[in-house]
Amino acid sequence: MKDDTKLTRLGRPHDDRGQVNPSVARGSTMLAPSASALYDFPPGRKHYGRVGLETHDALRGALTELQGGAGCALTSSGLMANTLSILAATEAGGEVLAADCIYGPVRNFLTTQMSRYGVRTRFFAPQMGAEIGDLITDETQAILLESPGSLTMEMQDVPAIAKVARDKGVITIIDDTWSAGLTMKPLQLGVDYAVQALTKYVGGHSDLLMGAVVARDDALFQRLQTTERAFGFHTGPDDAYLALRGLRSMGVRMQRSAESSLTIAEWLAARAEVGAIRHPARSDHPDHALFKRDFSGACGLFAFEVPGWDIATSEHFLDALEVFGMGFSWGGYESLAIHCDPQLKRTKTAHKHDGALIRLSIGLEAPEDLIADLERGFMAVADRS
Ligand SMILES: *Cc1c(COP(=O)(O)O)cnc(C)c1O
Repeated sequence: MKDDTKLTRLGRPHDDRGQVNPSVARGSTMLAPSASALYDFPPGRKHYGRVGLETHDALRGALTELQGGAGCALTSSGLMANTLSILAATEAGGEVLAADCIYGPVRNFLTTQMSRYGVRTRFFAPQMGAEIGDLITDETQAILLESPGSLTMEMQDVPAIAKVARDKGVITIIDDTWSAGLTMKPLQLGVDYAVQALTKYVGGHSDLLMGAVVARDDALFQRLQTTERAFGFHTGPDDAYLALRGLRSMGVRMQRSAESSLTIAEWLAARAEVGAIRHPARSDHPDHALFKRDFSGACGLFAFEVPGWDIATSEHFLDALEVFGMGFSWGGYESLAIHCDPQLKRTKTAHKHDGALIRLSIGLEAPEDLIADLERGFMAVADRS
């Protein structure tokens, strides 16, 4: 079956209750069938609500199947899905190699928290492939990828890195939020842990914070689940339900956002003010060949440069917008715009952008209205100068 069909079927109850959707199962206490079974935990028996109940199982099963993995852990945020996978993959004395374009709060976790537990982080240039083998040492335990990367949209050669890492016994983790696990299948490309911020396209309605990690094989899943349970991570069943509900329409939402984003990017490219467009699905993106090879589609998140603009000009532009909101999430139904400076966080490589870098998350509005809104912004800047 194609993913579009799968999205309508995954995680549904297969029993004779006739329910289309799973129940929202709230509960801490699970009663044992008998005194002798109290301390008997056969696989599959739920002894306590912290391990997750019916609704969690439905979502975990759906995400596992969508990604073609062996099992899934749910977390209370996308950030925690990253931190859980890092905790599962490392131990004291080890080292993480991380792409210099990763999501800022994950960088912060590595440098301020993992360092306290004796795990070092080295950052590498984001446009990397098999040559990462030269960076791997005896201490290297995990490689953290994000492709395309936050803000800059730089891409890694994911299968090439996964292969080198596997040959050297290093676990690969990818923050795959941009593809939502739908338009790229990192586990099929050889990655060990696929991390998702379900907050973005899976939730899709800006009313949910949640994350997930899907493991490639059983041993990796055992390792993940052992860590998850030891830390006591838990998510609420109402949130799991919302994420599962979001999955149903995710395919059409992403496709619509992606199409609109390309229409808008094309309009921007024709504007005299605009410099480079950073959209992996466009042929002018430096890593477009990797996109074409590894992805079946895009989403609505991209960025563009405006040479000569300082922060005050970017602020003037954004303040003139009436349809785009300004805010930090993305992947919701509503379009968002921010100005940003990836260089503030990077340490390994300089990210040169000319003037301002504006990031857009294109939602479900009519693209004409979004274009008119951007035009309003450019006119406000022109009127000012
Ligand atoms: C938003 C985001 C996260 C974090 O997700 P939260 O649910 O907000 O914690 C992680 N990675 C990427 C790439 C993101 O864009």
